Amino acid sequence: MTGLKIYIVSRYEKSVEKEKEATKLNTFLIRSIFLVNLIFGVTGSIFIIVLNSDKLAFSRHFYLFIVYFIEIFIISIFFATSIQAKILNQKLKNAFFLRQIMSGFLGLVLMFGIIFLPVVQISKTGDIKYLYFISVAIFVGNYLFYLVVFNLQYPKRKLKENEGKIIKETLKKFEIESIEIEVLDTLGQKFANLFAAGLFKQKLLVTSYALENLKEEEIKAAVVHEIGHIKAKHGQKILYGWFLAILYYLSFVFGLESIVKFFVPNFEFYRSIQIIIFLTGTVQFLFLPSFISRTAEIEADLFVLKSGIKREEYESALKTLYAINYIKGDISNALEKVQSHPSLKNRIKILAEAENKLKREDEHKLDKICNNLTAACALFATVYLVFGVILS
Ligand SMILES: [Zn+2]
Repeated sequence: MTGLKIYIVSRYEKSVEKEKEATKLNTFLIRSIFLVNLIFGVTGSIFIIVLNSDKLAFSRHFYLFIVYFIEIFIISIFFATSIQAKILNQKLKNAFFLRQIMSGFLGLVLMFGIIFLPVVQISKTGDIKYLYFISVAIFVGNYLFYLVVFNLQYPKRKLKENEGKIIKETLKKFEIESIEIEVLDTLGQKFANLFAAGLFKQKLLVTSYALENLKEEEIKAAVVHEIGHIKAKHGQKILYGWFLAILYYLSFVFGLESIVKFFVPNFEFYRSIQIIIFLTGTVQFLFLPSFISRTAEIEADLFVLKSGIKREEYESALKTLYAINYIKGDISNALEKVQSHPSLKNRIKILAEAENKLKREDEHKLDKICNNLTAACALFATVYLVFGVILS
């Protein structure tokens, strides 16, 4: 890790275009930290399964794992923050660290608690069918981790009277001025963003850094994007889409498995097919939820164009947002597939395409995905019902 730190900092110091280099290195840093945590997490879980093959007390190992993983987590957080402070010139308040550690800790315990449920079942019963649930547990655990961290990382406050006039004006223009606006104090972190949050009672969140550093027209463009999410009820629809994705995955793996079990009497052969089903199902499940989120993002981007904001104006606001947050705009297409947002490059491309055929096409792609998923669920669930229940 120290080697990585020396490498990053020296690359930054040698670079001519400091801002550009900081963006590149920051993106690289975030990815590396994620990867390091993932590798250590997976290695740890495998150890637990091996240790538990003799059905020893499980909870003891779980706590050991939590302690081990939280150590890794804290080390990598301190490491990342110290580099970011150098290359992004950030002065973080102490409260930032405190909240990061606390929210990260709570999020991790919750996440691993959920991921461990199927792991416990496998090691207790030896039944490989619980393997299927690991993908779902990782997804749900990961989602809850971000939910906890996001809610606890930044202190919230109400928007003051004299603040964010442009936000209030824009909401009024779209007749949703009654919506609550909250400010997230980033505690010195350079993080400029806006979010539409809340499942039933919608809210608009804006970070303090965005309020202080974005120009009025940039804030306005970002607010209209969020209004696009709010008007389309994306909060609920994305969650519903994810729920369908889980159902689809489960009916896919259990449906196919029931056919194989029905037709293949050879146990060894059946086992190897089971692994193939698990992998094909998991790969689809890995890409589905982020595909759903990205579709919602595109819908919100297109809403901005339809609302009358000029494409060039919105494009420049998006570019500023990516730049001010030190996020690379041109990531590879493969990496984009697992991200919740399309890359800046692709968003600009889609906006330009949409501008040309805006009047003709007005399809709700998110609804279409949900309909297709429902149909696929019904198909595989019927297969399971026939081969797994009625004929078995
Ligand atoms: Zn969005």
